[in-house]
Amino acid sequence: MSRSDGDRASVDRDWAEALAPNRRGLLGASLLAGLASGPALAAPAAKVSPWGADTWKQATPAPISVRPGEETLPARPRAFTDIESYHAHIYFDEDTYQKAALIRRWAAERFEVELGDWNLEPRGPHVTPSFYFGFANEQLSTIVPWLQLNSLGLTILLHPNTDDPRADHLYYALWVNRSQPVNAYGMKRPGPGQPPVEQIIPNTVPSVTLERG
Ligand code: ZN
Repeated sequence: MSRSDGDRASVDRDWAEALAPNRRGLLGASLLAGLASGPALAAPAAKVSPWGADTWKQATPAPISVRPGEETLPARPRAFTDIESYHAHIYFDEDTYQKAALIRRWAAERFEVELGDWNLEPRGPHVTPSFYFGFANEQLSTIVPWLQLNSLGLTILLHPNTDDPRADHLYYALWVNRSQPVNAYGMKRPGPGQPPVEQIIPNTVPSVTLERG
C-alpha cells in the first residue's frame, strides 16, 4: 500500500466514524462541520456507506481467546480443584415464570444454597430473565441430577466459579436443556481487594427431606 493509499484509507475511516449512526450522537456538530470542511475531506460526491468504501481492506484481527492459557494445546490438564463452587442460573420468560417460581421454591426447601434475587430483566451476562442459586462442590452430585429431572423444560446454565469468570460462563459451562447466548465476553477477573473467586454464602434453610426412590 502506498502512502497516498494509506492516507485515503484513513480518510475513509474518519468519514465512517463521523457518519456512523451510532457515532453521530457522540460527535459535536462543530466537530462534524470541521471534518466536513477540512482540506483533506472533500464532500462525498455520490452515496457513500458510512463505513467507507474500503472496509474489505481491513486486517483480520484475532479476537481474545475465551480459553485461558489455551492459545496452544495445553501441556497438562487444569486441576479440577480450581473450582471453588457452582452457580445454577434458571432462565424463564413471561410464559414460563411460574415454572421458575416452582423450581425456586422446591430448591430453597431442599438445599442449603445461596439464593439470589429475581432478575426480571437481563442482568450481567444473562440475556433473559433469570434467578440463580450458588452451591458447594459437595452438592454437585445431588443438585445436577435433581435439576435434570426438575427443570420443567427450562434452560439452566450451570457454571463453575474459578478465578476466570469469563471462562466460567463461556467455556466451562454445563447446560440443562437448550443453551442460550451468554453475554460474558467482557467479563474480567476480580481486581485487587476483591476475592479471587466468587464466594458462596448460603441463605436458605432446608425444611423438606429430599425425595429419594
Ligand atoms: Zn453465575
